[in-house]
Amino acid sequence: MSVAQVSSTHERLERAASVFDVQRVRRDFPILGTSVNGKPLVYLDNAATAQKPQAVIDAVSRYYANDNANIHRGVHYLSERATAAYEDVRRRAQVFLGAGEAREVVFVRGTTDAINLVAHSYVRPRLEAGDEVVISAMEHHSNIVPWQLACGERGARLRVVPMTQAGELMLDAYEELLNDRTKMVALGHISNALGTVNPIKEMVRTAKERGIPVLVDGAQAAPHLTIDVSDLGCDFYAVSGHKMFGPTGTGLLYGRAELLEAMSPYQGGGDMIETVSFERSTYARIPAKFEAGTPNIAGVVGLGAAIDYLLSIGRASIAKYESELLQYAVEAIGGVEGIRLVGTPRERAGVVSFLMEGIHPHDVGTIVDQEGVAIRTGHHCAQPVMDFYGIAATARASFAFYNTREEVDSLVTALGKTHELFG
Ligand code: PLP
Repeated sequence: MSVAQVSSTHERLERAASVFDVQRVRRDFPILGTSVNGKPLVYLDNAATAQKPQAVIDAVSRYYANDNANIHRGVHYLSERATAAYEDVRRRAQVFLGAGEAREVVFVRGTTDAINLVAHSYVRPRLEAGDEVVISAMEHHSNIVPWQLACGERGARLRVVPMTQAGELMLDAYEELLNDRTKMVALGHISNALGTVNPIKEMVRTAKERGIPVLVDGAQAAPHLTIDVSDLGCDFYAVSGHKMFGPTGTGLLYGRAELLEAMSPYQGGGDMIETVSFERSTYARIPAKFEAGTPNIAGVVGLGAAIDYLLSIGRASIAKYESELLQYAVEAIGGVEGIRLVGTPRERAGVVSFLMEGIHPHDVGTIVDQEGVAIRTGHHCAQPVMDFYGIAATARASFAFYNTREEVDSLVTALGKTHELFG
């Protein structure tokens, strides 16, 4: 399919998205029918990984049943079918992300892989001693450690945009941090630990006005918001397939063509070269230059099905439903005796982090699991956020569009029982 055809299919899918009916949507996810300890599963760990609709499961098994072959290499029937399926998803991903060109979409293993790619191939070679990389106080470890590694190697410095007790970034301090030595700004769109939706468009503009490249970690945004990298104006945008209802081991890196072209390869191997001799190799054009070796072809096909599925539900309907559900959840969880919410940002999506007086978050997680409710406990790969609040861990409920108010009520009842027993 051409990009124009993909765009019009996407528009048709979103237009055709009927009124949001959560019970109908739930039937698309077979795992949601699971019982846990004799109780219906209440899955509230979506920020860690989302469940998969039947359409994604079917796309992966159909691919293996009918189309499986290696891509880009064979002239035979199956290889051509597999290549077409894989490249077709690239065009769908381009439209999904709002990228100008399909070659600006690199298939990766996930957000972690995407950020490491940019840190290694874009930032590291351009960093000199005394340079700076700016991140924020609420980043996931995946958006801290790759920059730390690059800075450590080059004698550069990591600078951190501070946040308030509410869990919002301090924009004045951000502006003050940017200077001639800033070689990269890397910011999370939505915090996985607090749920804060950062004013990312404004923050990108602030950096771009000073000529500084920006990477946005969109791991938590892609399942909840409409992403439009052209409108955001960022240079790189990273997402994980498994958090947006696609298979694990898949992800997308959007990179502005000009920057991707100027970057050196990340990994060497098959598919990323033009010519190889023992003396020297030349590299393929983008995006192949960054896709060494046999990729997760079936996973990418499944990711394409996840994109289509999201569009068929309608991203505007998803955002509206989720925002009402989250407001309900924040009030209901915050109202349980002994609960303290961690982070109270004005703009929030997907996540509620909390503590219960007198009981460790891990114990809260274990007890509510007895009631069939799956939440996450720990530092959520955001230890600096925990340090900021002077705590070791939180309990975190995270939501998707298939969750219901009744499920929030089940969590609240389970928390109430926990408080009675141990609080
Ligand atoms: N960034 C954020 C904000 C995340 O929430 C996560 C995962 O939880 C990641 C990055 C890393 O994603 P992945 O493990 O899929 O690479």
